[in-house]
Amino acid sequence: MDPPHDLSGGAAKELFQFLSCRAPLSFLLVWPRVGPVSCKKLNDNGGKIMEHLEKLENTSVHILREAYASFKNLCMLWSIGKDSTVLLWLARKAFFGHVPFPLIHIDTHYKIPEMIQYRDRLALEWKLDMIYGENREALDQKQTFPDHRTTRIQCCKNLKTEPLKQVLSGAWPRHRLNHDTGKYELDRNTEPFTGVIAGIRADEEGSRSKERYFSPRDLDNTWDIGEQPPEFWNQYKTDFAPGTHIRIHPLLDWTEVDIWEYIGKEKIPVVPLYFDQGDGRRYRSLGCAPCTNPVESTAKNVGEIVAELKSGKFSRVAERSGRAQDKEDGGGLEELRKQGYM
Ligand code: SF4
Repeated sequence: MDPPHDLSGGAAKELFQFLSCRAPLSFLLVWPRVGPVSCKKLNDNGGKIMEHLEKLENTSVHILREAYASFKNLCMLWSIGKDSTVLLWLARKAFFGHVPFPLIHIDTHYKIPEMIQYRDRLALEWKLDMIYGENREALDQKQTFPDHRTTRIQCCKNLKTEPLKQVLSGAWPRHRLNHDTGKYELDRNTEPFTGVIAGIRADEEGSRSKERYFSPRDLDNTWDIGEQPPEFWNQYKTDFAPGTHIRIHPLLDWTEVDIWEYIGKEKIPVVPLYFDQGDGRRYRSLGCAPCTNPVESTAKNVGEIVAELKSGKFSRVAERSGRAQDKEDGGGLEELRKQGYM
């Protein structure tokens, strides 16, 4: 049978909308991963951008719903950056305003303070089931790069990779936001999360381009790149052996420009650090304060960021070039990511 994007006329749209609404999710699993396509001829560039964003949104929403239908103990990682915030926005859309799984943030305690303020403000406003985890022992023993006791790579392992693994498994404490008090409390639920939704994009850096939408990890969170199932022709596998830990990546097809155009279209609130505050610099990527540098830019709003990216100003500058830990990993982050780093 021809895929729906080969059908023409209003009937194609009606058929696909019908299938999207009525068909069991398992049927959609074997259907090519495309959203409803408007057959109207779009003459202006703005219309094409909207159509492109609509397709990306539909695909991501579809993957989020598939993940929710397929995996029991699901959570979503929220780094507070623009990509994972777009993912959070899409999750709210996919489930009609209510995100039906917890948001996990691994707090290194070196994040730029505005990021944590933004996290907690949005978590309360959007009534998110917010959990943070940390490596308290490494912090207390000062086994970190900012304390001059480790390399950056070891510090990232200590403050990001290891706590992520232990918090997902339930072995280390989880701190859950109490919406009545606005404070975090020790979570009594230690059930492991086996499905983890993350906002990585294939174009972000080399190792991320090797991911799948549904990417298995072993019990130790280790990533075997060669053993991933293929995802040809927009087909993907969601049935894995019991105990397999799955990473789900609904934003894999999005580019940096797509993210900003979508943020502009949907008016998604982002951390103001992304914009020039008057000193001719802004953050293109957010992370820990000691390891993240701003770029030279006078972009003060989303429209100016999109124009700047499209101008080619950063065409030879990697998006994460301001992240010092990437450079220590040879620029590819692959070694860290194989061990569970996001
Ligand atoms: S980004 Fe820097 S401060 Fe943050 S965990 Fe990595 S090395 Fe440590």
